[in-house]
Order: sequence, then structure tokens, then C-alpha cells
Amino acid sequence: MNDLLYLDHNATTPVLPEAQAAMATALSECWGNPSSGHAAGRAARAVVEDARKAIAELVDADRGSRVIFVSGATEGINQVIASVPQGRLVTTALEHPAVHAAAGRRDDLSVDLVPVEESGHVDALRLLEVVDANDPPSLVCCMAANNETGVVQPIGELVPPLRARGVRLMVDASQMAGRLPLNFEAPDYLVLTAHKLGGPKGVGAIVVGEGIDLSPLIVGGGQEGDLRSGTEPVPAIAGFGAAAQVVLDSRQEEASRLWSLREAMVRHLMHSLPGSRVIGLGAPRLPNTLSFVLPEGASATAVKAALDADGICVSSGSSCHEGHDAPSTVLTAMGVPADEAMRVLRISMGRLNTAEDIGRFVQRLPEVVAETTA
Ligand code: PLP
Repeated sequence: MNDLLYLDHNATTPVLPEAQAAMATALSECWGNPSSGHAAGRAARAVVEDARKAIAELVDADRGSRVIFVSGATEGINQVIASVPQGRLVTTALEHPAVHAAAGRRDDLSVDLVPVEESGHVDALRLLEVVDANDPPSLVCCMAANNETGVVQPIGELVPPLRARGVRLMVDASQMAGRLPLNFEAPDYLVLTAHKLGGPKGVGAIVVGEGIDLSPLIVGGGQEGDLRSGTEPVPAIAGFGAAAQVVLDSRQEEASRLWSLREAMVRHLMHSLPGSRVIGLGAPRLPNTLSFVLPEGASATAVKAALDADGICVSSGSSCHEGHDAPSTVLTAMGVPADEAMRVLRISMGRLNTAEDIGRFVQRLPEVVAETTA
């Protein structure tokens, strides 16, 4: 994979060397069961608790909150939604499918969707209007940043008014945690996942505010304070903790570096691909993500495949269902017409990407668009 140009970091990130090293050490030296009281168990327990501290620091968790290790953001979302009392869930069409699927399993939870602005931004006041329009909801779910568009939501404007109303808020910070400071007061539930921030796949966390109820989804041996049974995956947790430390130390610097690369990419593409349009204009966005509509006549699926043949990995705004490409539900919720959604390409950068990489991409893309356009 030497020549591979990976521009799909919102799908997953390469595992940071520091995380790999921490995992290797955990595998070879800290293989005990963290629940065992003897020396081997204590060594494994120390790894888990160090990682827990690193995650709490990364998200600037309040004292008294708890970090619960789970298998990833999908599990975290499922657990929170399964935990809340019956009633109403207020959310957006932008959320990860786990939110909608987990809510769909609850016959006693109705779902109210908050309209989304054309930019992909959710207006905090409109969300509060939906909250106030009926009985207080059991839960509000709003992601911190969207995986497809990179648009950042106004979580800071939601936490205090929802808390004042006694309404619980779950924030999916999977895409934001490694990329920007979480510049908002801690919500009741914060969900994150290691593999979007340079850690391994299969581990994530729910950060639960002090005194906030949460029920286990998986019961058994009572690990994680009885909130997630099963022997903790110590090597994966070690990798998560190490990655969290690295991103915390370099997040600011990395954000401005990626922001300049993104700006340069936009300037270049607007010039070399007239008729293309950036998605999410006017809304605050993640520094690493650029989602844009290719000029008329192009097909994002064909462009993606041709780039792939050249060793360049990107993502498109459509998804394949039963052999047919369908526009993404996120873009549809933003009012992007279906024919435009089928032309959306998503570039998501990460720490290994350099100015040379972006140069290679912006040079190759217009050629590929010309080659694949009928
Ligand atoms: N939430 C968001 C915003 C995501 O982008 C993803 C990953 O695709 C998830 C949740 C699910 O995370 P995981 O792969 O850890 O289950």
C-alpha cells in the first residue's frame, strides 16, 4: 500500500504508530484479565485505567462523569437509546444510521426529526422549538460533526437550554473528537470511537455525566461498573488511549495544517472543475473534510472507481443498496437534489496527508472527471 493515497479518513483512520506500540505492549506484557486481583490482572487493569484517563482528558470530561468502554460508537448509541424511558426522541436526519435503527427497535419511542438547513447545519432554536412543541422528550440526539459533509453542529447552544428543561442529550462526537476541541459543556451522553482518531477498530466509549442513568446493553460479569459486561479488550483499549493522547497533544496544530490544505484544494478545484460546488458552504466544518458536487454529466461512482484504480481512495455521496446506487439520506435531508447527490465526492484528510498528496489529487481529479464523463 506504499503508493496508496488515502483520502477517506472519515471512514476510518490508519492506526497511529503510538497506538500500535501500546497495543503490542499490552498484547505481550499486559495479557492478564483486568478483573483478576493478582499481579497479572493488576497490570492489565492499569492499562485500562490509564486509557480511561486519556479519553476523559481528550473530551474534557467533567469530574464525576464516567467513561465506559464499549465496542464502538454503534454500540454506544444503541446502549444510550435502549436506556432512556419511553416517550419521544428528538433528532435529525443527519445522524448515523445506528440512531434511527436503535430508535426503530423501541415501540415505545416516537421520533421527531428537526429540519436541517441547506448547509447541513441544524439551527439550535429550531431544535428547541421541536423539543418544546410537545411533552418533554426522553432524549435528544445530535451529532457533533457529520461524517459526510464535515458540518459541525451547535452543541454548545443546546447543552444549557436542554439541561434547564431537564431533557437528556446524547452527542455523537465520533468525527469531531480527534479533529477539533469539543468546545461545549459536557452533554449527558457523549459517544466516541477509536478508529476515527488513529486507534484500532472495535473499541469506543460512552462518557456519561455525573448522576445520569444508563442501563447495560450487555449483561454478564458486571465489568465497566456493571454497564458493559465482558472482559475488556485490553490491547484495543490501550491503542485507544494512546491515540487519544497523541491527538490531544497535536489537535490544534493538525487542525490548522489540514484547514490550509483544504482551502488550497477548494481553490484549485473551483478553478479546474468549473460547475462544481462545495457542500456545507456557510456552515462551520471540520478542517479535514471537503464534500463537493462534481460538474454536470460526471458520476461520483465512476470517478471514485477510476481514482481507486490509480491508488487514490475517496468516498462518494451515494450508497449501494441491492446493486443500485441511491443518494445519501444526509444529502437528501439537506435538500440536495438526487442527481447532484450522485455527483458528490467526499475527501477526508488525515495526519499522513501532505501538500504533495493534495497536489497529486487535484492534478489527477480533473483528468479522471474528463475521462469518465460521457
Ligand atoms: N457515528 C458516526 C458519526 C460515524 O461516522 C460512525 C462511523 O462510521 C459511527 C457513529 C459508528 O462508529 P463505529 O464504527 O465505531 O461503530
